[in-house]
Amino acid sequence: MTVRPIVISGDPVLHSPATPVTSFDAELRKLIADMYETMDEAPGVGLAAPQIGVPLRVFVYDYPADDGTARRGVAVNPELFISPTPVSEPTEADDEGCLSFPGERFPLIRADKAILRAHDENGAAFEIECEGWFARIMQHEFDHLNGLLYVDRLAHAEAKQAEKARKTNGWGKPGLSWMPGVDDLDG
Ligand code: ZN
Repeated sequence: MTVRPIVISGDPVLHSPATPVTSFDAELRKLIADMYETMDEAPGVGLAAPQIGVPLRVFVYDYPADDGTARRGVAVNPELFISPTPVSEPTEADDEGCLSFPGERFPLIRADKAILRAHDENGAAFEIECEGWFARIMQHEFDHLNGLLYVDRLAHAEAKQAEKARKTNGWGKPGLSWMPGVDDLDG
């Protein structure tokens, strides 16, 4: 397993829809192992393949339940069904972050419930029902596979702040990345 550099906002791989996986082979399993390793090292609660420069419809997640039960897995070629997104003012409790927009957090209203249908690394289909932050993570990672970052969904005021952060950090161009465990960044 190898920790891979995480691509930063501005690279086309993050802003284009990813391609479905067609073979559940050793190469896919190696990719998934690297994604777990990279997510853990970052550390993050989720990571999508485009974030390590691979334009495939795969994401990993690791978000234990309140009672400590592990919720760690991989979603290959996922579908996501969400409850209606509430219309309300975001608060600090809605602050979201992204390893591809590192060190920044902005509030975003998300749907509270989601159903994930996907395949695991061996091609077996599964379904999970999610609520609260777990549902948020699924929406965030699923967005990555469609070329969307959470900052693309922000309301006007927060979008302006995100744009400012992008400029201040010198992001928004191809080829930028950071290395978990080496570069001192988080998000
Ligand atoms: Zn992200």
